[in-house]
Amino acid sequence: MPARLTKLKRTGAPKAIAASRPIADPRKRLHRVIELLEANLGLPVWDGRKDALEVMVLTILSQNTTDPNALRGYQTLAAALPAKSPTGKRPETLPRDAAGNVDKVALRLSNAATAVEPPDWDAVARLPQGELANLIRAAGLPESKSGSILALLHWVHEVTGRYSLDAAIGKLGLDASMEALGKLKGIGVKTITVTLIEATGADMCPVDTHVHRIVNRLGIVDTGSNRDKTYVLLGPMIPAGHAYGLHHNLLTFGRTVCVAKNPRCEACPLRKLCPRVGLPS
Ligand code: SF4
Repeated sequence: MPARLTKLKRTGAPKAIAASRPIADPRKRLHRVIELLEANLGLPVWDGRKDALEVMVLTILSQNTTDPNALRGYQTLAAALPAKSPTGKRPETLPRDAAGNVDKVALRLSNAATAVEPPDWDAVARLPQGELANLIRAAGLPESKSGSILALLHWVHEVTGRYSLDAAIGKLGLDASMEALGKLKGIGVKTITVTLIEATGADMCPVDTHVHRIVNRLGIVDTGSNRDKTYVLLGPMIPAGHAYGLHHNLLTFGRTVCVAKNPRCEACPLRKLCPRVGLPS
């Protein structure tokens, strides 16, 4: 594995350890995958509470695009409608490459949530949808994402009388909040669970494109193109305390080794566990 994979905070000194034999039972195979990823990449550690509304808007912006594009859309919005009082963000927490540009592999939404001052949410909520769409255009799908952001802001304000998703979750409770958020336009299970793990450190494993692809390739689940089904099946198989780390390790692994096209099976420490070795991607 490459020596430098991510700037995510991790515990443990990574070691190069590979699987030595196949494991037939999918649950046991998953447990070995977790061990091997933690041995090779370390155990990702949550880096502290963040504003849930900021994280959810960033997560909406990141749908079907890269985190750098989501960040650009968010920065444009925040620059156009700056908050009246700064919240103390730390721009230095954005990971940079050697040339000083935002590091596309290391960047995470949590970096953006700690580095970029949010916009004035009240001003955003009052924008006509077309204007909001223009401001977030760099993130792609501006028409649908602007509708989702407005639906979220209006819901949060309706529940709390202000723009605090944390307060809405505190008031309604986690389960009822997840259910209500899931009814808003364009906000699905992945967007909700990503927000919860980044903002609150919840021990969940959101299923994004990397997680879905890798656990299917490894034969841990067999869910075709249905990511929500992957989330439902995968969650109960993960030992307590390892879901947050598994999500982040699979993201890193999916960006560097088990990539979508031409996975680097020859360098993969999981190859002896993987039924897909040698098959076309
Ligand atoms: S062996 Fe190849 S397909 Fe299987 S997990 Fe590793 S990189 Fe992915």
